[in-house]
Amino acid sequence: MWGGAPRGTLGTMRASDVVPLHVADLAYPEEHPLAGRTGPVLAFAVRLADGIVLVDTGLVTGNAWIDEHYQPRRRAIRDALRESALDADAVRLVVNTHLHFDHAGGNSAFPGVSIVVQDAEWAEAWEPGSPAGEWVDFAGARYERVRGDTEVAQGVRVLHAPGHTPGHQAVTIDTEDGLVLIAGQAAQDARAFATAEADASLMRLRRLDAARIHLSHDRTVLRRTERH
Ligand SMILES: [Zn+2]
Repeated sequence: MWGGAPRGTLGTMRASDVVPLHVADLAYPEEHPLAGRTGPVLAFAVRLADGIVLVDTGLVTGNAWIDEHYQPRRRAIRDALRESALDADAVRLVVNTHLHFDHAGGNSAFPGVSIVVQDAEWAEAWEPGSPAGEWVDFAGARYERVRGDTEVAQGVRVLHAPGHTPGHQAVTIDTEDGLVLIAGQAAQDARAFATAEADASLMRLRRLDAARIHLSHDRTVLRRTERH
């Protein structure tokens, strides 16, 4: 997929090479389970020695319905990278946890860059009535569809974690500080991640016993020491 090499003289990454990017805040609309609350949207940059794997790309722009219903305050993904001293032109690979407007909405900022999605998610995006085509399709779009768990760069894996959507995927990164998990929207927040039951994907992700866990809609980073 992409042979990116880990950073550092030891050839390994650190947990700090997974950089959260705060790309938006949303006001959840009336019909949403979180109605009345405002919540963050995070994307993540994974720094490898010779480039960046970007997990999610933030919000779509120019959709009147979304702007009215979610009242987003957004940062363009390339700006968010720059503000974290990261070069958007160093993005070698994009991973979408899923294809909703707040996770894949900025994909068009990366023409020609491979974007990894689960096959099941891709199929869902093109179902009648799905709006996703509006931001999934763009000039220079290059999607790589995978089925199930796949290593996408050295030490970086996607794990199929269906639930929120049929093709939702999480990402794991091997680091010197232990396994870092980007759980995406497998859980809405850290509390749900730690406690939700009867969710096969969440139970599987919890069993990984990652050293750090990041979520798409909660800025809390779960650390193993705090959980034990
Ligand atoms: Zn979301």
